[in-house]
Order: sequence, then structure tokens, then C-alpha cells
Amino acid sequence: MSKPRRHMPSISAVILILSLSLSSTLSVIHNQEPQVNEESDPISRFRNYLRINTAHPAPDYAAAVNYLTAFAATIPSLQIRTLYFTTPDKPLLLITWPGSNPSLPAVLFNSHLDSVPAEPSKWLHYPFAAHLSDDGKIYARGAQDDKCIGVQYLEAIKELKSKLDYTPLRTVHISYVPDEEVGGFDGMAKFVESKEFKELNVGFVLDEGQASVNDEFRVFYADRSPWNLVIKATGVPGHGSRMYDNSAMENLMKSVEVIMKFRENNFDLVKAGWAANSEVISVNPVFLKAGIPSPSGFFMNMQPSEVEAGFDVRLPPTVDPDLMRRRIAGEWAPAWRNLTYEITEKGPLRDYMGRPLVTATNDSNPWWTIFKQAIEAAGGKLAKPEILSSTTDARFMRQMGIPTLGFSPMKNTPILLHDHNEFLKDSVYLNGIKVYEHVIRLLSSFDGATVSETK
Ligand SMILES: [Zn+2]
Repeated sequence: MSKPRRHMPSISAVILILSLSLSSTLSVIHNQEPQVNEESDPISRFRNYLRINTAHPAPDYAAAVNYLTAFAATIPSLQIRTLYFTTPDKPLLLITWPGSNPSLPAVLFNSHLDSVPAEPSKWLHYPFAAHLSDDGKIYARGAQDDKCIGVQYLEAIKELKSKLDYTPLRTVHISYVPDEEVGGFDGMAKFVESKEFKELNVGFVLDEGQASVNDEFRVFYADRSPWNLVIKATGVPGHGSRMYDNSAMENLMKSVEVIMKFRENNFDLVKAGWAANSEVISVNPVFLKAGIPSPSGFFMNMQPSEVEAGFDVRLPPTVDPDLMRRRIAGEWAPAWRNLTYEITEKGPLRDYMGRPLVTATNDSNPWWTIFKQAIEAAGGKLAKPEILSSTTDARFMRQMGIPTLGFSPMKNTPILLHDHNEFLKDSVYLNGIKVYEHVIRLLSSFDGATVSETK
């Protein structure tokens, strides 16, 4: 049995990366339009975008923005703006295709510029070389999450213009935001609060989704909201040989038992098939800090007076956050057992009107109806709408009361976001462009006769 080939970056890949970073540096210095690579087919353009390393902890946003700007500039009538809401190294690219009736609410297509890091030694091919295998797989960090949709949006507009000479009724915006993978606080969170965003008059948003392993496209109408919970216990210190009440460790362990029981109850619902993973409250212990360090490890004959445990908690939008806070205060970390706690909420759970962050996926939401029609027109089929287990920038738009769906047209594709050997097949990528041609055309030509605007 042959082992999978370990990665050795080829000389050509290294030269390519060097020349890419060199050209982006030059374009920044001269503040001029960078040259788009000669390749004129969508697959080459996608691979070139993937070769720009926007992985944390040092994403090269400038190079990505330059590249997309240069491509967008080749498509007639697109307006291009780069916005800065924090520091000059965190640009936000906004591309606008003006509609013939700009007074109608616009449609926004969003993607993030950054990606999570990759460990090259664990990959079959260097994660920023965008290697194309014989069977059409394009290997790269960001191939699925979410550089595919970023270029597909532009490719679809290019096709609509060149093939159909189509002009939208509603204005179409495309945003490329920084920092989604680190919480979105310097990216989308700032953008939605800006004057510039308000002026866009956005009525509906499509943001990233996830791959589907079967023939149906997945669509997400809500995200779970993450809470970081840290529980601290104090108690009476003492000799390791003594059994007594109210030690810090005992106090914490009682909490852990209660929390793990809660976890089990929720997990049982999933295992029994009564709820999807993303529909329950998940809670997972992620760290324990305890013990008194000794030169060889820990003192075994001492019971510590302070211990701590951390939990990753994820709440679906159906959960009442106040009830959850009361449960934590009363059952998980009661003060009468010498416990204190801290919750760091990593995003909103309710919109500005106090409603759960959920986008309706029925005929009460005309955007949903149009979106579904577009998928059908593209020859596709939608799976049952889902809550996303994790979190995306969509929550910031939903918080503004703007209907937002998560969607990435990748079917018959293994789910490899954040994984080693993330890849997307060239045929799936090209089909995605066709899907967006229908989606962009139908959404932007929707006259809104039955829309009750949710602004
Ligand atoms: Zn993503």
C-alpha cells in the first residue's frame, strides 16, 4: 500500500507565490490597478484567488482586494469601493451593480476574505497552490469556505451581462469582508453599523453556506450563537488525605455533573433523531484549570482552593437567553456552592426588535419564494432548511432585521471546511456559477409587488 504523498512545495509553486506576493506589494506601493493574470477562464481565476494567502494569523487582505478589484474592473458598469472601518490592513471591498430602480431595496451577496490556517505538512498538496488534480479537484484552503462564492458572484454577473445584456431592476451589491473567521467584529459587525451600509438599503442577503454530500443544495436560515462559559469554584483548601465538605474541586465537580447531564439530555435528542445537532443547545467542556503545580507535575497531597472549567455553549435562536442565564446562575454555577461564572456572548441572539435571529423559509417571506424558484430554474433542489451549527456573519445582518440565507452551491461534495485537504471539484464550481446566474437574475428582477419590507 502506498502512503499518501507528503507535501513538498514544487519550485514552480514557490515561484508563483513569490511573484504573486511581489506583484501585490508593488500594486499597493504604486496604488495602481494590479494586473489580472492572463488566464481568462473561470477555473484559472478561481485558482489564482485561492493562491492569495488570506489565512490567519496574517491574512493578506490587500492582495485579495487588489485581485478582486482587477477582475471586477473588467466587467462593465460595476462600481468598486474599498472601505476601512478599523485599520488600513483590514479593507472591505464593496462592488455595486446599479439597478434600473435604485429606490427598491437592494440585494447583497456576501463572502469573507479570510480563512482559517492550514498545516501544509498534513495536506496532499500545498494549501495555497490551488493544485488541480486529474479528477478535477482543486485543493486549497478556502476552496469551500468561502472563496468559491466570492468569485462565483462576479463570474455570474459577467455572464449575465455578456450573454443576456441583462440589467437588474434592483441594485446588486457584493461585499468582501475581513475577519469572519475570528468573529467578524472588525468586519461585518462594523460594516452593518456604518452609514455606508445604511445607504445600501439592503432588503435581502445571501451569505455563505456549506457543502452538501448529496444531490440537494443546503440552505441555512439561522446560526447558533456561541457563548463561552467559564466557571470558577473556590473552597476550603486542605491535606489530600482528608475528606471534608466544600472543597473547590468538589464544588466544581458537582457543577460538571449537572452540566454533563444537561449535555446528555440534549445529545440524546439528536441520537434519537428527534432534533438536528444544530437545533439543540450544545455544551462541551473545553478546559480545566486545577491543581497546585510541583516540580514534577502536581502536588498530590494538597486540595486546591481555586479551580476553573471552561465550556463552549451553542444556543439555537429558539432558546430564550434569559432562561439560559437563569439556568447557569441557579443550577450550573450557584453562588451558594461558592461558584462564580462569566459568560462571553460571541454575538447577538435577538434582532433590534427583540425577535429571534431567524429568517423565514416559507411563503411569508417573498425573498425565500424567489430564491427557491431560482434554484429550481437552475435545475437544482433545496434540502430542508437548516440551522447552522456554527456561526457566520449572517447573524449581524439578521440582527438588523434583514432576511439572510446561508447558501453555497456545492452538492455531492464532502464537507471539508476548516479540514485538511479542503477541495472543490471544478465541475461543482462551474455549476455554482450557473446557479448564481439564476439566483442573481431572479432576485434582482423581483419587482417586490408583495414584499412587506422588513426595514
Ligand atoms: Zn466561512
